[in-house]
Amino acid sequence: MKTEPAIASILAEKHLDRDRARWLEAIENVTPAQVERILAQPPGRYSLQRLLTLVSPAARPYLELMAQQARRLTIQRFGRTIQLYAPLYVSNVCVNSCRYCGYNRKTNVKRTRLTIEQAMTDAKVIAAEGFRHLLLVSGEDRSWVTVDYLADLAGRLREMFSSLSIEIYPLGREEYTSLFAAGIDGVALYQETYDRDIYADYHIAGPKRNYDYRLDAPDRFAAAGMRQLGLGVLLGLADWRIETLAMAEHAAYLMRRYWKSRIDFSFPRIRPAANVMHQWPHAVSDEELVQMMLALRLCFADTGIVLSTREAPEFRDRMINICITRISAGSRTNPGGYASEKEAAEQFVVADDRSPAQVAAVIEQSGHEPVWKDWDAGFMECPAGGQKEDR
Ligand code: SF4
Repeated sequence: MKTEPAIASILAEKHLDRDRARWLEAIENVTPAQVERILAQPPGRYSLQRLLTLVSPAARPYLELMAQQARRLTIQRFGRTIQLYAPLYVSNVCVNSCRYCGYNRKTNVKRTRLTIEQAMTDAKVIAAEGFRHLLLVSGEDRSWVTVDYLADLAGRLREMFSSLSIEIYPLGREEYTSLFAAGIDGVALYQETYDRDIYADYHIAGPKRNYDYRLDAPDRFAAAGMRQLGLGVLLGLADWRIETLAMAEHAAYLMRRYWKSRIDFSFPRIRPAANVMHQWPHAVSDEELVQMMLALRLCFADTGIVLSTREAPEFRDRMINICITRISAGSRTNPGGYASEKEAAEQFVVADDRSPAQVAAVIEQSGHEPVWKDWDAGFMECPAGGQKEDR
């Protein structure tokens, strides 16, 4: 019999995975007095009611106060530092049909798969720019981007990078364990949307149709010992306020079980891509995105907040001063894009095309220190042992 992941039960019990209209009503009914009560309390602790209050329309006039609290809290917990990372796309082949993505198997774009040697050529360009944290990204290309491929590549990359993460298709527990042993210490896997019906509507073919296998993946990679657990929703597919509540419940659940790992929230807003839809039913404005980030920071003092080059320079520069902790720079979202392959299709159009040095200069001008390196591998848990679950 198929076992339902524990987080699935939590979301279902709270009606955060479908029939979510009651949450909209509760959010609309929040009053300014309730917002003020929450903002008078010490920031940094999570409850669903607290987050609901902070994402409500009633909280919108309090964004400046929320930003001040978020800034103080972020400096207290993370210091005046911003970590830098770069994505390295190793394949844009994909068996899925996500309706929003340029790598959708039905789009007629140039497909490229990097050999280990080609990936190393790109990696050397990235390392020469100063990065020591690398994110390996791929479409769902299981026949090329295998666990062995990733482990081999990680073995070579560890000489150049102190921290390696992946953002690929969901794997099994043993596969994550093998990758952790090979030196990969972080996984980012976004649920895209926590609403089951909307999820089914956007993921029309391929293994990604399996909502529960994806939802349960952070349990698997956390249990395998991964130190950084990246969560996110693709902003534009569903109501951002309810998605924030669902993602927060997921994060709180993971924190209870895998307390040695750190959660990172990412905020990918849908970007234009070749040959896919361009109208989004739940497009998120700059102001709404700011509110979402602030509300999460004021409920989760110690989570990383990540902003990629999907966002425009002015927006990213503003958020450096408020609550983000990690930022990408100089990104190429096509395989081979750093060194050789200029023609391969991008996953999405980058909005901030400044060089890593330019982004680092902006970070310094804002009074923060750009940090290129996460940690030394010597500080890591013994990979073979992995991390114990705290049940
Ligand atoms: S979002 Fe990921 S899984 Fe979906 S089509 Fe794009 S690359 Fe493939």
